[in-house]
Amino acid sequence: MSKKILEVKELSKTFKRVHAVKGISFDLEEGDIFAFLGPNGAGKTTTLRILLDIIKADSGQISWNLNGNSSSLPASSLIGYLPEERGLYLDLPVLRTLVYMGAIRGMKQSEAKKEAMMWLERLELEKRANEKLQTLSKGNQQKVQFVASIIHKPAFAILDEPFSGLDPLNQELFIGYIKELNKQGSTILLSSHQMQLVEKIARKVFLINKGKEVFYGQLGDIYQNSAEQHTLEVSFNNHLPRETFETLEGAENTISEDAGKVKITFRQGMTISEIMRVLAGVDSITGIRSHNSNLHDIFLDMIQQQKS
Ligand code: ATP
Repeated sequence: MSKKILEVKELSKTFKRVHAVKGISFDLEEGDIFAFLGPNGAGKTTTLRILLDIIKADSGQISWNLNGNSSSLPASSLIGYLPEERGLYLDLPVLRTLVYMGAIRGMKQSEAKKEAMMWLERLELEKRANEKLQTLSKGNQQKVQFVASIIHKPAFAILDEPFSGLDPLNQELFIGYIKELNKQGSTILLSSHQMQLVEKIARKVFLINKGKEVFYGQLGDIYQNSAEQHTLEVSFNNHLPRETFETLEGAENTISEDAGKVKITFRQGMTISEIMRVLAGVDSITGIRSHNSNLHDIFLDMIQQQKS
């Protein structure tokens, strides 16, 4: 059985008027790729900052147990942190910055330089090694920030919005780098609002909205739960009031983004033939398509269900 290396219980944090984190609990096992997912202002960064002791929670417990050391916060050599507000000195040369970041996390100077050069070559930035960070484009600065946070191959990497500022090609490359880091032994905790990227990488997810848990568990279980419920996209002559669909037997959730189209999620356990029988009673339907939910849709549905 995998070892728990971080356990968080009932964490809460309020800033003056904003209740940013509301009693959330989760844990990470060694080797996890765990993603915090949620819209802007959901409480992701606040939670990560609390874990790193940058800010204090109002209540709740955090227990670390990394590399056999149980303590309030592991040594900096064991942790890698990519902050949301990028924190490197913009007027220092790229290579010097990376070597410095490695050295303060316990690497030998020569080892840090070798590792930094390896990364710069990989990122096609080796020719910029002696230029100041501020001369690089935003995406390239982000790459350097990423390397700075993981150059020492930390046992635990906390990556706050690692894909921010990257084009789609580089986003894919970063997914590869993070997976590689994980394969080499780092446990990963990342935050993102880009669900289509997280879907490709995370094994465990924590969906958060307005500081509260929306879903927490294995990514596969989200799809499993939603697969047991059929969602259909129904097109209809738009003289028909949309409300017709809300009152259909078994229709639990109806969303209409376009005129003449409605996405209906039917009650869990309802079979396709039962659903077809219900829809057969509506005259003006012009088309029916099965809708395969992605994480984005599932998240929106879950938030909607929480409200109702
Ligand atoms: P984003 O994706 O936009 O970074 P997030 O999920 O990381 O969002 P947080 O940065 O954790 O969200 O913010 C959660 C809430 O707490 C927001 O309403 C934010 O305005 C508020 N907040 C965060 N830090 C502070 C602070 N230092 N003082 C006051 N309010 C704060």
